[in-house]
Amino acid sequence: MNNYLEFREKIREELKKIKDEEMENLIKRLQKDAYYMEKNLNKYLEYKRIMGSIKISEVIKDVNTHRDKQFYSESKMTDTSKGELMLVNKYYYLLDSYKPDLVLMTDTYAKSVNKYLEKNTYRWFQKMVEDAKKENIILYSVSGFRSYEYQKELYDNYVLKDGIKVADTYSARAGHSEHQTGYALDINTSSSLDYFEDTKEFLWLSRNAHKYGFILRYPKDKENITGFKFEPWHYRYVGIEVATYIKKHNLTFEEYYAYFVENR
Ligand SMILES: [Zn+2]
Repeated sequence: MNNYLEFREKIREELKKIKDEEMENLIKRLQKDAYYMEKNLNKYLEYKRIMGSIKISEVIKDVNTHRDKQFYSESKMTDTSKGELMLVNKYYYLLDSYKPDLVLMTDTYAKSVNKYLEKNTYRWFQKMVEDAKKENIILYSVSGFRSYEYQKELYDNYVLKDGIKVADTYSARAGHSEHQTGYALDINTSSSLDYFEDTKEFLWLSRNAHKYGFILRYPKDKENITGFKFEPWHYRYVGIEVATYIKKHNLTFEEYYAYFVENR
């Protein structure tokens, strides 16, 4: 009997050792990722346990950007003191009263509606438009700043037309729209039917927007992180340095924000 108990204890110890080693290896692999964040370690481990054979880099990316939780499930107010680096998405929102320092764009730079833009963003947008013009590329805004109320009306109408599930893939709920920051604008179109991605204007923007501090905010194949379908027309001002980094490393703004902005 004693022998049996001893034997069982030994097996238990062995198993625990194997488990500990596995865990240690997993932690080591996580720590090697460029965007590993110590504060998220428990969440990485829990997410990996639930998701099974998911890649380590995916675990890091998803947890850092809150994708271990449902969109809109645990929203919090964004930190507006981050200025042009504030994050507004399906996890971070702006109060209905939030309004940036706006200026009215002239007709050369803006057509259609919503002709206001955050001051500094407008300055850089003008520069970009003028430089593009020299290469026979005509750019203009079709939608800049949108107020909370305006976004609410827009979204509510989309929901009536397409239902919540579909509307959520292409339109932000009020308070969650980047257009309310004043740092975002739609260039030349805001319709997927126009296939803006096939134009020389889009090609020019792909090559040059970062030089003026703009990023393509909802890239192709990043829907899982950004929560939005590819929007070749939607650009966000973040400043030249950040825009260049994001482009070079093929990141979403969500990933950049988690690692470099939020707790710094
Ligand atoms: Zn937009």
